[in-house]
Amino acid sequence: MDLGIAGKLALVTGASQGIGRAVAITLAQEGARVVVVARSHEKLQELVQQIELDGGEAHAVAVDLTQAVELERLVAEVQKLGTVELFLGNTGGPRPGAARDLKVQDFRTAAESLWYPMVALVNALLPGMQARQFGRILFITSLAVKEPIENLALSNALRAGLTGYAKTLAREVASLGITVNTLGPGYTRTERVEEVFAFRAQNQGIDLEAAYAQQAAQIPAGRMALLQEIADVAVFLLSARASYLTGQAIMVDGGAIRGLL
Ligand code: NAD
Repeated sequence: MDLGIAGKLALVTGASQGIGRAVAITLAQEGARVVVVARSHEKLQELVQQIELDGGEAHAVAVDLTQAVELERLVAEVQKLGTVELFLGNTGGPRPGAARDLKVQDFRTAAESLWYPMVALVNALLPGMQARQFGRILFITSLAVKEPIENLALSNALRAGLTGYAKTLAREVASLGITVNTLGPGYTRTERVEEVFAFRAQNQGIDLEAAYAQQAAQIPAGRMALLQEIADVAVFLLSARASYLTGQAIMVDGGAIRGLL
């Protein structure tokens, strides 16, 4: 299937590792020109080199998404490259913790990473998408949107909020050829998850693979997701072919969520 994104400009945030990185590589393999964003210039340069070696086109912009001034610089850099038609909004997860222990400042800090940059970037990108009468916006959230996870109160709350924003926006821009969706990954073996499981294994006095096996036993698929399995769905949702799919919260979770919808 031709995804219809060759030559289109894509913006991928949180691209230095994990899911964002995998989506950037896959978009480039499908012929999109990719702008990759994260804080680490070195990691982004390494990614750009890998994409170029693979025959693709990529540009790195190192910014801290929580800083409004840096976001403005990002938008200015991206505008020099053309009109962004595909936007993957992704960043790191907020700190763990119980709801009853949260302070208002914890919400502010988490929103500065998970919400505000997404809204700022959408506001900057929408006029270009509208002029093209084509756009794809996809936010990476979590399966916590459908089934809140114990001790991840900030993630549960803020990702649900982002999903509500996406759904509202989706209906506002649907007639302009712009789709807005969210993708909730299930447990996926990324660098970040590796750290979490290493910590869990150490606490329980078991080895890393045993910690993964414990998690896998909770998932109907019997295993955690491969990065490529998340990236493939994301790239389809960002593609021209996903033209009638909007306002949806798609879970890629190996069947983990028990809920009907
Ligand atoms: P990750 O932590 O490995 O990657 C996050 C990316 O965002 C990195 O490139 C990081 O540098 C970048 N980033 C973080 N803060 C930034 C900032 N202020 N400015 C610029 N860049 C910033 O995460 P991941 O495992 O790839 O997951 C991606 C998202 O999906 C996260 O929000 C995560 O919580 C969520 N998620 C992941 C899983 C999983 O199993 N991996 C499951 C559910 C949800």
